[in-house]
Amino acid sequence: MTESVRRLLVVEDERHLATGLKLNFEFEGFEVDIAGTAREAAGKLARPEPYAAIILDVTLPDTDGFTLCRRIRASGNFTPVIMLTARSRAADRVEGLEAGADDYLAKPFELDELIARVRSQLRRREWDAVRGQAVQTQSAQFGVARIDFERHEAWVRGEPIKLTNLELELVKYFTQNPERVISRDELLEQVWKLPNYPNTRTVDNFVLRLRRHFEDDPTRPVHFVSVRGAGYRFLPSGAQND
Ligand code: CA
Repeated sequence: MTESVRRLLVVEDERHLATGLKLNFEFEGFEVDIAGTAREAAGKLARPEPYAAIILDVTLPDTDGFTLCRRIRASGNFTPVIMLTARSRAADRVEGLEAGADDYLAKPFELDELIARVRSQLRRREWDAVRGQAVQTQSAQFGVARIDFERHEAWVRGEPIKLTNLELELVKYFTQNPERVISRDELLEQVWKLPNYPNTRTVDNFVLRLRRHFEDDPTRPVHFVSVRGAGYRFLPSGAQND
């Protein structure tokens, strides 16, 4: 792991609290940006430098924190989110976690506890990343699918299915490159080992096959989605279709 400075985004409209959090986390060795509105937060999150974690208040002047959290997840951003709220009802906690938050803290909270929870999320992510690199090539799991690349076996809803070698290699490449736009040329080069091969329709045919295997509705894919004019994206958690 590289020891880069870890940046946090604090989304909180109460100036006092936001500034207090910034100073305290800076004292702990973090860099901290503050966003006072959901809109401002979206702007900061659109920048290329990633945040290590997001501290997100539920009550914001423009959009509530639950909605913002759902939007962050829908955009393919899986940065740890710790939600803050004045409310301590179980329903709010459930809504926060359903919206894709990783943890939840009711106001008023002890600063030490928030710092500990942020650190705990970062440790978990680092550990997942290390472990993920080790197991990533051997197996994958998304939606209703489970694939064992070593044993060349796949299951959908627990039922075994048959994959050809190329289908297996293609789904492996997708699962190793989640969330990213992958061009047809890249797939031809990396999976088919055919750089400069002119016929990209081959790729489309195979992606259709994967959709038939793994999508609930192959005509409305949520995992193997097309990106117009660019290629495909693999979304392990599924796209938000409406
Ligand atoms: Ca607030």
